Amino acid sequence: MTVACSIKLSDEEKLNVLRRVDQFWQWRSLEEKRYCLVCGEMITGREIQVIADTRGNAQLRVSCPTEHCKAIPMEWVPPTEDVLIKIAMVEAECRWLRLVTQAGRALQSYQGSASNTTGRTKSKPRLG
Ligand SMILES: [Zn+2]
Repeated sequence: MTVACSIKLSDEEKLNVLRRVDQFWQWRSLEEKRYCLVCGEMITGREIQVIADTRGNAQLRVSCPTEHCKAIPMEWVPPTEDVLIKIAMVEAECRWLRLVTQAGRALQSYQGSASNTTGRTKSKPRLG
């Protein structure tokens, strides 16, 4: 059991919390976007959850708004051109890997069915 609950803040308060908690990047407004490295979602300051930790010191924490994602500011990066290119490259790589895997499977099942009908023949060096 965690003693924490997400709380509602005014825009100004939320922005202040973000500025205080996020020591990695500057927040100029709640409309600013961050790319979450954990869940791969683009999030805005407005969407970010502010959580009040009610154990003792009542510290405020911020957390990724995505369900089941507990990312913290350290894991958010501004979606600069560099980052966007990187994301695109990773996605392209994933697609490419999927294609390769699919092709590999297709080839395997083809070879499998081929060896079923003809029997596995080892290539022998031809004599004469
Ligand atoms: Zn996330």
